[in-house]
Amino acid sequence: MSTPHPPDRDAESGGGEESSETSSQADLLAHYDIRLVRAPNPGPFTLSGTNTWLVGRHPTWVIDPGPLIEEHLDGLYAEIEVRGGLGGVVLTHDHHDHSEAVEALRGTFPAPLAGGRGAVDVQLGEQVRFGPFESVATPGHAVDHYALIAEGACFTGDAVLGSGSVFISPYRGAMSGYLLALTRLRLREDFNVLCPGHGPPVWDAHTKLEEYVAHRIDRENHLIVALGEGRRTVAELLDAVWSEVAAELRPLATATLAAHLDKLEEEQILPRDVERPRFERTEW
Ligand SMILES: [Zn+2]
Repeated sequence: MSTPHPPDRDAESGGGEESSETSSQADLLAHYDIRLVRAPNPGPFTLSGTNTWLVGRHPTWVIDPGPLIEEHLDGLYAEIEVRGGLGGVVLTHDHHDHSEAVEALRGTFPAPLAGGRGAVDVQLGEQVRFGPFESVATPGHAVDHYALIAEGACFTGDAVLGSGSVFISPYRGAMSGYLLALTRLRLREDFNVLCPGHGPPVWDAHTKLEEYVAHRIDRENHLIVALGEGRRTVAELLDAVWSEVAAELRPLATATLAAHLDKLEEEQILPRDVERPRFERTEW
């Protein structure tokens, strides 16, 4: 599929300065029939809020309805009306900040729901078609996480964010599965913009994916060095490898550490006496 060329853009990372974010969203409208409605739920886990995306019109399709906040739903409903009704709803994953408004939305605009698990009408899997979308498994942040590709864009949910990096859930195989998913996305040529679950759109899609892979490998290398220096406790490893992470995000860094340690164990290069973070290994 050929895709329109986006305008040249300054480095998009660095926290989404408002003016460049606004123009970036305008570009999305100009070059693609994609609209962002951002929920007013900013925070350390959600950056400037959860992104709800609308694709196409007559009807339009919604990705991640977001949190149950009246103001957000009002904006979303107005946009659905403008776009001639709702064809369907798809979830990148079922964490609350993405999925909470599903019922309210479908109560107002009845339409099929697609997702990785739970009470869905269409079960996502590898290369499942739903409306204009093709789903691509992107486990890591959640075991049931999917990216959706449509109209020259890749909707990445929390697999790749518009700024900063994501946290990986500590279920078995999360980190290796995540790295494989990023690598497979990077090899695709049917999109050139990333529309993330949080933060601004990313025009240098493939550069961003390469950065994400490099970032994970960089963390892993630091972790291997810290282990080589004899650090063994969770606190020591976090201090050595995630020293820049704010205190409130340390539990999430701990989860990511657990996923990295799992990967080293899978590869049989983890020393035996390393303290492992304790988590219930439920499938997040
Ligand atoms: Zn999220």
